[in-house]
Amino acid sequence: MGMKVSVMSNQEILDAGKKYIMNTYGRFPIALTQGQGSRVWDADGKEYVDFVAGLAVTSLGHCHPEVTGAIHEQCQALVHTSNLYWIKPQVELAKMLVENSDFDKVFFANSGAEANEGAIKLARKHSKLKFCSDKYEIITMSKSFHGRTMATLTATGQEKVQKGFDPLLEGFKYVPFNDYEALAGAVGDKTCAVMLEPVQGEGGVNVADKDYLQKVAKLCREKDLLLILDEVQCGMGRTGRLFAYQHYGIKPHIMTLAKALGNGTAIGAMLAVDEVAGSFQPGDHASTFGGNYLATAAGKKVLEIMLRENLAAKAAEMGSYIMEELSRLKGLYPDKIAEVRGLGLLIGIEVHGESLSIVKKAMDKGLLLSAAGTQVVRFLPALNVDLETVKLGLKIFEEVLKEDL
Ligand code: PLP
Repeated sequence: MGMKVSVMSNQEILDAGKKYIMNTYGRFPIALTQGQGSRVWDADGKEYVDFVAGLAVTSLGHCHPEVTGAIHEQCQALVHTSNLYWIKPQVELAKMLVENSDFDKVFFANSGAEANEGAIKLARKHSKLKFCSDKYEIITMSKSFHGRTMATLTATGQEKVQKGFDPLLEGFKYVPFNDYEALAGAVGDKTCAVMLEPVQGEGGVNVADKDYLQKVAKLCREKDLLLILDEVQCGMGRTGRLFAYQHYGIKPHIMTLAKALGNGTAIGAMLAVDEVAGSFQPGDHASTFGGNYLATAAGKKVLEIMLRENLAAKAAEMGSYIMEELSRLKGLYPDKIAEVRGLGLLIGIEVHGESLSIVKKAMDKGLLLSAAGTQVVRFLPALNVDLETVKLGLKIFEEVLKEDL
């Protein structure tokens, strides 16, 4: 596909952005104005290999023709009514999610944070109804990331996300990830749930050990705790299974999704087993735009394509290839790479030095990567990325490693 030069240059867009947009993001000095598959172009026409994929959102690549077509078709039929009425694509997407998971009911939101808010509310409501009003505490993990709303930043086990926003919500406790004894020791009379990401994304690509997560699920069953899995980043095929929990042979009570579910349309989903979902009654939770026509029409198409093309299996295969290549690079550049870890196409490279400086150097050379904390560089290509693009991305990455970091 040819690149079209934007009417405004990178510089003009970022100058206007600095003037009019609140300064909440540490942004790179480019504006991406076009995309196709795993390539994007900035406003000055420079091409990049995209291994960010909107931070695990555009898992089918940019402007997938079938997703674009589904959105277009839906736009022409109906864009908004309200959740006062049944929304056909919402119902159809819920059916597909339920039929392909171990959950029974879905609540749709607009983002990952909102899906997690719903999970936190449902866990509290369920425990109050089933046990007593005093059982409301949720145990989460250090280095976790659950969002930026007040409840989800409280759930997030990272001080840098919470700093400046006191008082935080009551009823959260944090334990180290992958440490079963710490978790078991933290459970008390007030505990109602354990919430974690099977693979921590923002916290540095930390994969839950199989034995650990199985023991956590068992502990939850024994102590009447709900197991809430945040699969906002690691769900939807990213780790090599449709949902990351499927690697572990466990059945959580609640799971949240967002990001790749809409391939770029704003969508979040909270799935629960019937026994728990039944604790929400009309009036307990709502969202004007949650499960809207455009997002769910896109979501339906995304899931249909992921299943039809078996993209989770492709992610597993391509993920193994990339991990092998990165391990080879680690052998060649041991002074730059400390560790390569991940699952499927959620890959982290722990580096000696600043992750951000590597990300910047790669961007200058035409490869988009993201940092997960100060020491980890993340590879998150689209699940359908082709081998030629992967090889080009790895070649650019190696060129970066050859330089002084
Ligand atoms: N949960 C996880 C695991 C995430 O990675 C993120 C975003 O990165 C969120 C929740 C928050 O999602 P959103 O930014 O859509 O609110």
